[in-house]
Amino acid sequence: MTPFDMTINGAPAATAAHFNVLNPSTGEVAGQAPNASLADLDAAVTAAAAAFPAWSSQSDAELQAACDAVTAKLNAHAEELAQIVTAEQGKPLNGLGSRWELGAAGAWAAHTTSLNLPVKVLQDNDEGRVEQHRRPLGVVGSITPWNFPVMIAVWHVLPALRTGNTVVIKPSPLTPLSTLRMVKLLNEVLPPGVLNVVTSDDQLSNLGAAMAAHQDIRKIVFTGSCATGQKVMASAAETVKRLTLEMSGNDAGIVLPDVDPDAIAEGLFWGAFINNGQTCAAMKRLYVHADVHDAVCDALVAFAANIPVGDGLDEQAILGPIQNRMQFDKVARLVADARERGQVLLGGEPGEGLFFPPTLIAGLNNGDPLVDEEQFGPALPIIKYTDLEDAIQAANDSPNGLGGSIWSSNIEAARALAPRLECGSVWINKHGAIQPNAPFGGMKSSGIGVEFADEGLAEYTDIQVVFS
Ligand code: NAD
Repeated sequence: MTPFDMTINGAPAATAAHFNVLNPSTGEVAGQAPNASLADLDAAVTAAAAAFPAWSSQSDAELQAACDAVTAKLNAHAEELAQIVTAEQGKPLNGLGSRWELGAAGAWAAHTTSLNLPVKVLQDNDEGRVEQHRRPLGVVGSITPWNFPVMIAVWHVLPALRTGNTVVIKPSPLTPLSTLRMVKLLNEVLPPGVLNVVTSDDQLSNLGAAMAAHQDIRKIVFTGSCATGQKVMASAAETVKRLTLEMSGNDAGIVLPDVDPDAIAEGLFWGAFINNGQTCAAMKRLYVHADVHDAVCDALVAFAANIPVGDGLDEQAILGPIQNRMQFDKVARLVADARERGQVLLGGEPGEGLFFPPTLIAGLNNGDPLVDEEQFGPALPIIKYTDLEDAIQAANDSPNGLGGSIWSSNIEAARALAPRLECGSVWINKHGAIQPNAPFGGMKSSGIGVEFADEGLAEYTDIQVVFS
């Protein structure tokens, strides 16, 4: 098996050591990734810093054309990258799986390319002219998780390049292969050093920690857990790095008594189970009014029971395995505990290997671990309520504040409840439906800053005001 290469300064960069990346569906080796040292990271940062002056001095139109070429390259290799994502991440090719992820990555790349941040004239009169410019930062360090390896890489890389920055990206050791391949492909249309990738197993060297502290990296864009994000924030203080932190969520959905249970079942299911629940902005707790509780549970079970679960490379599979053993054990622990506290409506027992069937457990409350902790897996706790005020209070009773949803036949009434939810995105009759033209980020400990749209793009720049 030929190991994948890192790309540093436009060229393949080999390492003495490699580590195995496992296919979660089979436990077999999906590929080998370079196990880089801190010296390799330094080489990547040096290359990115050297590429910055020429890259950042291009006109806006030139940067846009370069990002168009990146988008075209990504789209041209979508199927190849989808196959790698499935092999290393486990998600199926079909459904909301790897082909969908590559489609979304292409859509995000295209939209981000189309954005710009024009000069703002703040004043132009006898007293003088005052212009607000957006200047690129320099080298951006991107640290990504294992749940959507290509899509999240695109979320980080495209706005950085579009605004004139250069990049060093470090994927999760659990899913590095698709990023290694993607960066190699994108280097076919980018000048050397503009986009570099380094990988390690987090044991030989913790590249993420070193990036957060690195003197020559000006910004970290991080997507991952709260615990790691807090470490990034602490390390970044020394060099006053810019930060975008997209971290854990424990999103609540609130179902009002006026819903049609059969009509919302599919949306509820995919709001919670997209990518097997391994999605930051998936619904992780469902509060259902007592009047419709049993009917909603029945409709959800009826829908969920028919979802084919299997090896990601099987064209028939719609949900795959959990991505890794640690995550599997966490889900198994939370579900085993919830079985003692509530009623299992569907699933509830671990399957073979890393497979865990879609699991619905009713009769739970805040304070139960499956409700309070981010399960990040295919198990949804259902909580019955009678007083809407109690449901809103319970939904907000979390250190996280990424997303939330309200399900109702009365859209206006549901919209009026949105300001009551302490979270960065509120969806009505859907959940997790992020899009590239809407800023996305967390309130409370779910993060700092936003991604997407003009506001997300601006996070890759400093403001410079010119007075004349
Ligand atoms: P993680 O925090 O374990 O790892 C994320 C990345 O940080 C990996 O690349 C890892 O190698 C790196 N890392 C490890 N130690 C580090 C350190 N000391 N300093 C800097 N980087 C370090 O997260 P994960 O398990 O890969 O991903 C799952 C988590 O990500 C979940 O909590 C989920 O909610 C969150 N997530 C959030 C969003 C969002 O947009 N808010 C999106 C996807 C995932």
